This record gives sequence, C-alpha cells and structure tokens, in this order.
Amino acid sequence: TYVVIENCIACKYTDCVEVCPVDCFYEGENMLVIHPDECIDCGVCEPECPADAIRPDTEPDMEEWVAFNRKYAVQW
Ligand code: SF4
Repeated sequence: TYVVIENCIACKYTDCVEVCPVDCFYEGENMLVIHPDECIDCGVCEPECPADAIRPDTEPDMEEWVAFNRKYAVQW
C-alpha cells in the first residue's frame, strides 16, 4: 500500500485524490490519508503530490504511518 505522511499537513492540493482509480483517499484531521486495504498499489498518486507526502509502505519504518492512515480512513 501507499500511505500519506506528515508532509501532507496543511497542503492545499488534492491532485492525488483526482488520479486515484479506486478513490481510497480520505480526509483526516489536518491531512489526507489512504485506506491501506483499498489502495491497489498502482503508484499513480505518488508523482502527483507536490509535498512529497505519498510513500510506499516498503520504505523503512512505515508501520506507524500505515496504522495512522488506517485509523483516519475508517472514520467515514
Ligand atoms: Fe490510489 Fe494508486 Fe495511490 Fe493507492 S497507489 S492511493 S490506489 S492512486
């Protein structure tokens, strides 16, 4: 899955949301998140983010961000 990290906070762009083929972006408290179970790992959103806030969970130490994204994605 891909996840959104803190670089997203206060970002006003939603280019990532527009391109996601499965609509798995959700609004968190002050940033967007990706639902880790809905993301199909296509990677289309990553280059669209001007804040470099979208990362694959294969990067080191991403477990907390996956949990964070999951927590805010399921509120809806
Ligand atoms: Fe959506 Fe693809 Fe980005 Fe996952 S990687 S959030 S499916 S655009």
